[in-house]
Amino acid sequence: MAVSKRIVLHFPRRMVDRPIVSKLVKDFNLDFNILKASVTPDEEGLLVMELTGKREDYDRGIRYLTEAGVHIQDLGQDVTRNETRCTSCGACITICPAGAFTLDMVTRKVSFDNSKCIACELCIKACPPRAMELHF
Ligand code: SF4
Ligand code: SF4
Repeated sequence: MAVSKRIVLHFPRRMVDRPIVSKLVKDFNLDFNILKASVTPDEEGLLVMELTGKREDYDRGIRYLTEAGVHIQDLGQDVTRNETRCTSCGACITICPAGAFTLDMVTRKVSFDNSKCIACELCIKACPPRAMELHF
């Protein structure tokens, strides 16, 4: 049976240069589609991808990534903003690796685009009034 999942890979700094993802194709017969790639301010690598293949190959590939030190997060997690709490302070804008926040220069309001979010959770700790929330 084939599976296709959207996942977020968190690479520690020491692994950013290693050809880990190409091994998924070569050694585990998986296809991938990279949706977003970035490096966070503390230099952790972040890769959002759709990974597709036979169930057993998928499970072996995930096991390989985990054993190699990659932290894997299911993109089923959803980050939302509690609009009544947000004070548009702007603390989240520069911290978000996905560019999900934008400042309207006229109204000085900060907007949040959930479709860009890769659920890295950085804004959750950074938001002073705790407006950003993680849902499973
Ligand atoms: S850090 Fe929190 S309060 Fe400040 S703009 Fe972002 S979501 Fe709003
Ligand atoms: S969790 Fe927050 S900081 Fe991370 S991508 Fe989503 S909106 Fe940006």
